[in-house]
Amino acid sequence: MNQPIGNLRTLVLNADMQPLSWAPLSVWNWQDAFVAVHQDRVIQVKTYDDVTVRSATSEFEIPAVIALKNYRKRRNVAFTRYHVFLRDEFRCQYCGVRLPAKDLTFDHVVPRSKGGRSEWTNIVASCSADNLRKANRTPAQANMRLMREPFRPTGYQLDASARRLPFPVGELHQTWMDFLYWDSELDG
Ligand SMILES: [Zn+2]
Repeated sequence: MNQPIGNLRTLVLNADMQPLSWAPLSVWNWQDAFVAVHQDRVIQVKTYDDVTVRSATSEFEIPAVIALKNYRKRRNVAFTRYHVFLRDEFRCQYCGVRLPAKDLTFDHVVPRSKGGRSEWTNIVASCSADNLRKANRTPAQANMRLMREPFRPTGYQLDASARRLPFPVGELHQTWMDFLYWDSELDG
C-alpha cells in the first residue's frame, strides 16, 4: 500500500444506485465495506484506484463505492435539530436568508408559553434577528409571515433538500461523484 488507508471510507448505495441516505451521507469505514464485499453481502461498484491492502499472499482492492443487493425502504425521519434545518434547507423561514447551522436558531411558531409543542409542525429554522423580533408571539401577532408551513418531512423530501445544498466537497472522494451529482451546474 502506498498511502495511509486508515481513514478511507466507502460510499454506500441503495440497490437503486442512489446513496442509502443523503443526510448524513451513507458511508462506512472501508474495513466494514471490505468484509461485506468478501462475504458477498453487497456489490462492489468501484474501488480506489491507487490503494490496495496486502495479506501475506494476496493483494486486495479497497471498495470506494458499494451497493446493497436488496432495496432498503426508507425509515421514518427522526425529529432532530439537524433534520429540521435540513427540511428548511438552512433558511430562516421568516426572511429566507440561508445560514450555517451555528448561526440558525429554532423558533416555536406557536410559542411554548402559549401551548406550542416541540414537534415538526411547530418548529422552524429562524435567524437570530427574526427569532428575537418575533419573541413570545405567534406570527400573526408579530405581523410576520412564514415562507412555508412547517411539516413532517418524508425521507425522500429530506434527501431532496440535501441534494439542493452545497456539499462540503473536500470531504468527498472523487470516485463518489458520479453517484452524488448528475447535473452539470456542479462543474466548479
Ligand atoms: Zn430571518
